[in-house]
Amino acid sequence: MSIKQNLNSIKSSIPEQVTLVAVSKTKPVSDLMEAYQAGQRIFGENKIQEMVEKQEQMPKDIQWHMIGHVQRNKVKYMASFVSLIHGVENFKTLKEINKQAKKHNRIIDCLLQIKIASEDSKFGMTANEASEILTSSDFSELKNIHVVGVMGMATFTDNQEQIKKEFILLKTTFNQLKPLHSKLEIISMGMSGDYLLAIACGSNMIRVGSSIFGERNYN
Ligand SMILES: *Cc1c(COP(=O)(O)O)cnc(C)c1O
Repeated sequence: MSIKQNLNSIKSSIPEQVTLVAVSKTKPVSDLMEAYQAGQRIFGENKIQEMVEKQEQMPKDIQWHMIGHVQRNKVKYMASFVSLIHGVENFKTLKEINKQAKKHNRIIDCLLQIKIASEDSKFGMTANEASEILTSSDFSELKNIHVVGVMGMATFTDNQEQIKKEFILLKTTFNQLKPLHSKLEIISMGMSGDYLLAIACGSNMIRVGSSIFGERNYN
């Protein structure tokens, strides 16, 4: 199937209030343009440099989401245009995003990445760490960021029960944090293999790559 057909079939399988982020990492601009022509306006990348290069070449009405691990020293390269940063793992990174956003006179939306997977390799904070950040006075001084939700990545496994437990953990964490910070609206969870399960568990933003653009080749 073509990129356009893939997009249409995913969009017809998800509720309207769920935002689809087209994860275009490693894919050429020509593939992204095909998705753009089909109406897609939200793209997710996991490397800042790659996102910057694509942003420069593509139409300016695209919303660029940074979905990968955020290296603090590279925040400055995306601060002028990034629309949502999913993977914020600590207060220091929030502070740096705030500083760079301020230079551009912008407010940058961010999600706190919560560690829901059992794998040590996955990044993220605990629910307690997130609530400490959201209630701290240092956080209330950051005027150029808005924390608008949470993001999580499930364990890389075929075990649907385990994935489901982890998705429910993220939804529960969101429910715990929401009374502390009314701006929280987004629950970013679900990828190509599990987005329907994620939506059933409360996701309202899915990050789908290979089901739209085909398998990635990292060579
Ligand atoms: C690559 C990636 C995705 C998309 O994965 P697919 O399985 O190709 O849909 C989603 N989220 C993050 C954080 C990713 O790095």
